[in-house]
Amino acid sequence: MNKDRFDLAIVGAGLNGSLLALAAAEAGLSTALIDRVALTTMSQAAFDGRTTAVAYTSQRLFAALDAWEEVAPEAEPILDIRISDAGHDGRASPLFLHFDHREAATGGSEPAPMGWIVENRFLRAALLRRLAACPQVELIAPDEVIDSKRDLDTAELTLKSGRRIAARLIASAEGRFGSMREDAGIGARAWSYNQIAIVLVAKHERPHRGVAQEKFLPGGPFAILPMTDGPSSDGSTVEHRSSIVWTERADLARRLLELDAPRFQAEFARRFGDHLGAVAPIGPRWSYPLSLVHAERYVDTRLVLVGDAAHGIHPIAGQGYNLGVRDIAALVEVLVDAKRLGLDVGGADTLERYAQWRRADNFAMVAATDLLNRLFSNDIKPLRFARDLGLAAVNRVPSLRRFFVRHAMGLVGDLPKLIRGERP
Ligand SMILES: Cc1cc2nc3c(=O)[nH]c(=O)nc-3n(C[C@H](O)[C@H](O)[C@H](O)COP(=O)(O)OP(=O)(O)OC[C@H]3O[C@@H](n4cnc5c(N)ncnc54)[C@H](O)[C@@H]3O)c2cc1C
Repeated sequence: MNKDRFDLAIVGAGLNGSLLALAAAEAGLSTALIDRVALTTMSQAAFDGRTTAVAYTSQRLFAALDAWEEVAPEAEPILDIRISDAGHDGRASPLFLHFDHREAATGGSEPAPMGWIVENRFLRAALLRRLAACPQVELIAPDEVIDSKRDLDTAELTLKSGRRIAARLIASAEGRFGSMREDAGIGARAWSYNQIAIVLVAKHERPHRGVAQEKFLPGGPFAILPMTDGPSSDGSTVEHRSSIVWTERADLARRLLELDAPRFQAEFARRFGDHLGAVAPIGPRWSYPLSLVHAERYVDTRLVLVGDAAHGIHPIAGQGYNLGVRDIAALVEVLVDAKRLGLDVGGADTLERYAQWRRADNFAMVAATDLLNRLFSNDIKPLRFARDLGLAAVNRVPSLRRFFVRHAMGLVGDLPKLIRGERP
């Protein structure tokens, strides 16, 4: 039986696991990356219909790892964000909150976009290409972790293929449905939102001008996220496109997903509104049931949780992956520091530094997204009135607007080096 030894063995090669593998390997840690799905499958259009709002600081990390150049032509800058309440008819309230990227610029610096909208398949493809060229990482997929043993000296994974992997540290990047957290006896706050996000791409007559819109409809948020223009179906012209994350109560979402094209178009267009002219869905409809999982601890003996395995949140603020990116930056920095000092990269002190670094940021985002969803996904009249006034009140205070923009960009708190665009 094959028995290999690595500094770090990562279980799960989703957006978090593959980014962690690249960051760790580039920092000199011998790394194994394992997934039950073949990695080339994950970057195909049929695998994941979502886009990600990559925050300004997450983009800096991708750039620092030389993974942004390939993504850049497919990335649409987010210049403004407009948030408003809306009724069953999809009509937005006249009270709204508008963020402008220029408000975050400091001391005469050039204003940067708040983030970029990128199709997940392009992020996955760029990471995969960088990983394939990285000698410090071994890609092990398709294969599956079926057992793990961890003690004070080492950790070992048994794979379905029969291969065994020994490592100083195991990172679970298994997403919110992984098993290693529970197997380690780590509890979690977890619940379903009883909502489903319908995800699709829409074409519209007029350009979006880099404006991301979020309308709070009674069933949940309806987000219109600016994408790069794409070719029309016959290739004769270009189309203005947006990515849609349309959250509804689970039972209604299931019925909507089954509608024929004309009836689906009517339901969709009513919610979208006419601010960008004629609008129509293009391509497949995707659906993602929404839930929350927040681990009580992020570490155990020679085990660390990153990304959705540690905190899977509601997509209401488009921040789930950005939290994972910050986990990765912090984790790689503490591992590199430990290795440079000749310390054990899987040692309890090293892992505790990571857990402490990430706890407050993750906790704040978990709480904020949960609260926002509860506050806005309903049609209770007094609450609607209060939240409309709240949005309009924040909109009138430039310092508050700036505070929220800097949060959305990921510029707040003790930033790890990779998040500042530097290598650790
Ligand atoms: C509708 C929607 C929109 C979103 N939009 C945004 C956004 O705009 N911005 C943002 O920041 N975030 C967004 N998110 C969140 C973001 O998509 C997730 O945070 C991110 O994809 C999670 O990635 P992950 O790698 O942690 O987990 P996953 O993508 O779940 O990957 C886990 C991987 O682990 C593998 N695996 C699990 N167990 C094993 C095992 N035992 N052996 C081998 N392999 C295993 C699985 O095969 C899988 O590939 C959105 C989420 C949703 C649902």
